[in-house]
Amino acid sequence: MDAGRHPNITLLTYSEVEAVSGYVGNFTVRIRKRARSVDEEKCTGCGACQEKCPTKVVDTAYEAGLGYRKAIYRPFAQAVPSIPVIDRANCLWFTKGRCRLCEKVCPTGAIDYNQQGHHPGSPGGQHHPWPQATTPLMPGASPSLATAAFPKRLSPRWR
Ligand code: SF4
Ligand code: SF4
Repeated sequence: MDAGRHPNITLLTYSEVEAVSGYVGNFTVRIRKRARSVDEEKCTGCGACQEKCPTKVVDTAYEAGLGYRKAIYRPFAQAVPSIPVIDRANCLWFTKGRCRLCEKVCPTGAIDYNQQGHHPGSPGGQHHPWPQATTPLMPGASPSLATAAFPKRLSPRWR
């Protein structure tokens, strides 16, 4: 959270490092920012879209498969920035061409179904289609592996 407020730090969230070149003290990093389908400049993080979204999806990340999130969601309550993302693989608009409820309830017009991924800082602000990616909690881990998240989610104190 402190890093998010720091004037000399630019957070590139929902992004992936594609390539690193250079040497100590002079690195060049190529980063691809994925499409949230939400305009970060307009979103206030009010949460109205998540509340009204009719699509529930099993949350295999934060809830360790033991709870649900919506098709438009923040990974967890304290996520920085407090801006949701549309899970295009489960959103009714992207899969069936109907709904758009999040767009209707958003008070700031932040929903952008046509948003595309891009390389921040690249000449001309290159834009590239970038499909929604789901990042597993532990990439490559056995599905039968129980992590610390399981007992936490099962604990009555968590609920
Ligand atoms: S358009 Fe998609 S993300 Fe928006 S409310 Fe409908 S299902 Fe949810
Ligand atoms: S309703 Fe709009 S402003 Fe509120 S969190 Fe969703 S996208 Fe952001």
